[in-house]
Amino acid sequence: MAKILAIANQKGGVGKTTTTVNLAASLAAVKQRVLLVDLDPQGNATMGSGIDKRDLPTTVYHVLLGSKSLHEARLHSGAGKYDVLPANRELAGAEIELVDLHHRETRLKDALQTVTAEYDYVLIDCPPALNLLTLNGLCAARSVMIPMQCEYYALEGLSDLVNTIRKVRTHLNPDLEIEGLLRTMFDPRNTLAQQVSEQLQQHFGGKVYRTVIPRNVRLAEAPSYGLPALYHDKLSKGSQAYLALAGELLNNAAQAAPA
Ligand code: ATP
Ligand code: MG
Repeated sequence: MAKILAIANQKGGVGKTTTTVNLAASLAAVKQRVLLVDLDPQGNATMGSGIDKRDLPTTVYHVLLGSKSLHEARLHSGAGKYDVLPANRELAGAEIELVDLHHRETRLKDALQTVTAEYDYVLIDCPPALNLLTLNGLCAARSVMIPMQCEYYALEGLSDLVNTIRKVRTHLNPDLEIEGLLRTMFDPRNTLAQQVSEQLQQHFGGKVYRTVIPRNVRLAEAPSYGLPALYHDKLSKGSQAYLALAGELLNNAAQAAPA
């Protein structure tokens, strides 16, 4: 059964999509079967996986509204060696169209149930909002990975997200856990970043991944080639950090598994 992870933070530009794409590629590189779900109308994870969002007849939008199956909508990313349930701007309309539908929060969860046996990991890239799309991600997932930049307002935003996760757990998805907090775009020379990083560890302890993602230009430029950084510059610090994160995840999963 696939481990389903939502990559979420309502704060914009913290590295959700970069993390989803590069973690998907890193897990695939160590022979994990991965499905990336793009839940953001910006379609950045789709483009970053080398799939042109502009000419897609079928996307996650149709799956959420029930007009197409996930089998019909998913594509293979040759660039990243994983499957993708793609998105484009059409998805922005789903927010309104879903409101009147039954089980509007669990549409993605229901659709994923038809394919979870085919994957080891399903990674869901959520949009920068606590909206119905993100809620679909949180209901479908078993756990949430929270990428964050270690800056002054980061902790404040985090409490909103943690409260939302608590509410989802109470009302919709009792199994939902925080998988971990990921420090992204980290610059060790920045004193504030170090202080926030220390506060994070005090508050969340073992929930903070040991792996830290450095600020690295290769991670930022890889999407313009339609490639995960691993296939743009494998030896870059950014690529190596995401490979290490994949290793940490697999290790944690192995330790959590019953003997
Ligand atoms: P949004 O909230 O808009 O969906 P996001 O949380 O998905 O944004 P990204 O799109 O992954 O964030 O990253 C925001 C910007 O920062 C992008 O231009 C990306 O290339 C860049 N970026 C992300 N991580 C790094 C990094 N570790 N080093 C350098 N640049 C990075
Ligand atoms: Mg994004």
